Amino acid sequence: MWVHDAQGRAYLDACGGAAVSALGHGHPDVLAAMHAQIDRLAYAHTSFFTSEAAEALADELVRGAPAGLEQVYLVSGGSEAVEAALKMARQYFVEVGQPQRTHFIARRQSYHGNTLGALAVGGNAWRREPFAPLLAPATHVAPCYPYREQRADETPVQYGQRLARELEEAILAQGPERVIAFVAETVGGATAGVLTPVPGYFQAVREVCDRHGVLLILDEVMCGMGRTGTLYACEQEGVVPDLLTIAKGLGGGYQPVGAVLAQRRIVEAMSRGSGFFQHGHTYLGHPVACAAALAVQQVIRRDGLLAKVRDDGAHFGRLLEQALGAHPHVGDIRGRGFFWGVELVAERAGKTPFDPARQLHAQVKKVAMARGLMVYPMGGTVDGRQGDHVLLAPPFIATRADLERIAGLLAEAI
Ligand code: PMP
Repeated sequence: MWVHDAQGRAYLDACGGAAVSALGHGHPDVLAAMHAQIDRLAYAHTSFFTSEAAEALADELVRGAPAGLEQVYLVSGGSEAVEAALKMARQYFVEVGQPQRTHFIARRQSYHGNTLGALAVGGNAWRREPFAPLLAPATHVAPCYPYREQRADETPVQYGQRLARELEEAILAQGPERVIAFVAETVGGATAGVLTPVPGYFQAVREVCDRHGVLLILDEVMCGMGRTGTLYACEQEGVVPDLLTIAKGLGGGYQPVGAVLAQRRIVEAMSRGSGFFQHGHTYLGHPVACAAALAVQQVIRRDGLLAKVRDDGAHFGRLLEQALGAHPHVGDIRGRGFFWGVELVAERAGKTPFDPARQLHAQVKKVAMARGLMVYPMGGTVDGRQGDHVLLAPPFIATRADLERIAGLLAEAI
C-alpha cells in the first residue's frame, strides 16, 4: 500500500496512480509470474506464434465475463483498447453491408484516451479542440450525473429514462442508419469524479441501441477488473455490451496491457467477410504482460478480493461520509466498491464550483502528499472547465485501517 520516494518519504497509495495498482506495489505472486515468463519467452510476434500466457489470459477473461462476450483482443493499454473497439465496430458494419454507418455517439465529461479515435469520442471539448479537424465524427450527449443534473421532480429511474430518450433523439437527429455505436464508461472515471449510473439507465440505453441497430461499447478501462466490486462493472447494470474495453487494473501496473472483449457475432462477421480484423500492434499479447495480468486475476480470485471490495467498499463510503460529509466544501461523495469521487464546491447550497484559476484539486493533492497520502485529483468536474474533485481508487488489498487512514488524511488535506 506504500510508495517510498528517493528522499525516504512514504506515501499511502489511495489511488493506485490513476486506478491502476489493483494489488498495490511489489505483490510477490505477480512478480514471480513475470519472472517465470521472462525466463521462458519474452516476446513472440503474433504473426508467428501465440503464447501460453496470452491464451491463458484470454481464457481467464472470457470465463469471468458476462455471457456473450466470448472473444478477446489483447492490446497494450486503455487508448489502444478503445481504438481497437471503435475500429472493430466500424469494420463490423462494413462487413455486414452497412458502410454508411460512420458516426459515433458518446457522452460529455467522459474520458476514453488520447489517440485520435479515442479522443474523438472523449467528452471534454478542450481536449479535442486542437485536433478537431483530424477526428472521427461524434456527437456527445449528457453523462449520468445525478448530483448536478437530476431534476428535483424526477426519481433516479425517471432521470435515467430521460437520458436514454435524449440518446435516442441524438441517434434520430443523425439518422440511425448512420450511427456506428454509443460509447460510454460504465462508471464514469477520471473527468467527472466517479459517476455511478442510476438504476435502469444502461438497460434503457441498451434498448435504444438495439432499436436502431447501434452497437453499445462500454469502456471499463478504469472501472473494470474488480474496481467496483464485480470483475466487470456492467454486471451490476444488467446489460451486456457488444464490445467492452479494459486496461489499467488488468495488469495492476506491473505491465502495460489492455483488451477488448467482443460478442461472437462481431468477430464472426469479420471472419466471414475480409477474414480478419484489419488492425494490430507489434506488442499485442506480449507474453510477460499477459503473465502479469493473469497473475493479477488469479490473486483476485484466490484471495476473494471482489467480495472484499464490495464489503470494505461500502465501509469506505461510510468512512468518507463520516470524515467529509459535513465539510462546507464537500458537495458530493459518490462511488462504488473501491472507486470513489469527492466533489469540492465553494458553496454547498448552490453547488457553486471554486474559481478554476485556484486549481483547488492540485492544491489538495499537494497538501495530501505532504501528509503522506496519494490521491488522484482533477479539475473540470462540472463541465470540463469548472469544478474540482478528488478520485480515490485504493488497491484491493487495503485493510479497513488503511481505509480509515485514507479518509482521515484526506479530510485533513481538504
Ligand atoms: N478509457 C478510460 C475510461 C480511461 O480512464 C483511460 C485512462 N485514464 C483511458 C481510456 C485511456 O487509457 P490509457 O491512458 O492507458 O491509454
